[in-house]
Amino acid sequence: MCGEIKINLLVGWQTMKGRIVVAVLTLIAIIFTVSYAYFYTDSYEAQANQVFKDVLREFEKIRGYNISDIQLKIVTKDWVIQQWGGRSYDEEALKDEEIFYKALMLTSSNFSVERQKDEEVGLFMAFAWEGDIYVVKENFDPGSDSAKETLAHEFEHIVQERYFNLTSDGSYDSDKAIAAIIEGDAVVAGWVYAGKNLSAEMKTEVDEEINENNSLTTLFLFPYHYGSTFLARFYLDGGFEKVDEVLTTPPATTEQIIHVEKYLRSETFRDFGGYNPGESNPESWRVVKDTRMGEYFLYIFLATHVFDSAAFNAASGWDGDRLTIYRSGDDFKWRWKIGFDTVNDANEFYIAMALMLNKLGNKTSESSWEIAEPYVKQEIMVEINGDVVTLYGESV
Ligand SMILES: [Zn+2]
Repeated sequence: MCGEIKINLLVGWQTMKGRIVVAVLTLIAIIFTVSYAYFYTDSYEAQANQVFKDVLREFEKIRGYNISDIQLKIVTKDWVIQQWGGRSYDEEALKDEEIFYKALMLTSSNFSVERQKDEEVGLFMAFAWEGDIYVVKENFDPGSDSAKETLAHEFEHIVQERYFNLTSDGSYDSDKAIAAIIEGDAVVAGWVYAGKNLSAEMKTEVDEEINENNSLTTLFLFPYHYGSTFLARFYLDGGFEKVDEVLTTPPATTEQIIHVEKYLRSETFRDFGGYNPGESNPESWRVVKDTRMGEYFLYIFLATHVFDSAAFNAASGWDGDRLTIYRSGDDFKWRWKIGFDTVNDANEFYIAMALMLNKLGNKTSESSWEIAEPYVKQEIMVEINGDVVTLYGESV
């Protein structure tokens, strides 16, 4: 921890400046040791428990739900990484996920999912798990203002678990939409607790151009960014009562999260069903993904390689899709059927797609491309038929 670094620096300084500073250093070292012990041993727990109790009492008053029986548990970063980091996954499951990102060119061919997972969970400050609240000692400072906001955020997750039934239809799209409601609601609860100005918070969204270095992080942060903006609107409109209405009838798609008006008029989507593996896929090809991806993913898929605004417009015509990926060892095949609201929307997407593929590879015929390093080598074909565009990819 930071304590050790500080001691090393002091020792270095001592050798440079000579004996005169020894007395001063000893004094600083004593103060430091005492404060170190105060913050990082028994009293860390006492302090964390005190803040936990205070925030919980206040939170219940603001939110109007009783969750007073929950417990606080303190864990270390190592514990979290062991529990949910890259090594906690089965090797084949990691490979499946890696193939998914590489086949869709979100990452280059040398990308490691295991490392990505460690980085993501390493940032955890606190979390709600199995009905209790956990704080991560290295990332959670009970003396800070952000600690209180973080606890209120986690308490809201307990409210969601106990008083609402937030479930996905099992698709990637719905998973992300529900995650946006879960995290967005918790972020807003934290803001309200901390007395923040919600309109101002909604505007401070990070607006970084999406590229291959940050696209996975952007996907990971979607529930926090888009979810908080989505729910803050309802809170500003009618407080937690309105928020509770959303928690009772959550959006079905990421399209509804991005365009709140589509949620308000319950805009549905075209169901492209499952992909029939059929004749061209022998037993050795295992299905690693077969799901509806949704508008947000489609946007990130394009934005990783073309301008964000162009990608956003091209994806906003989304009306339903089905992605299926097959894997056999390191080889893969995929098909992605995407429906659009109009023929014009399909054409707009086709143009954006061609732009992206021209950038990533060589055009080999009217509608096919060969993708080259640093991405995984593959052949991609794009087919347009009315308001439906189908992409076919296969490793070579
Ligand atoms: Zn959360």
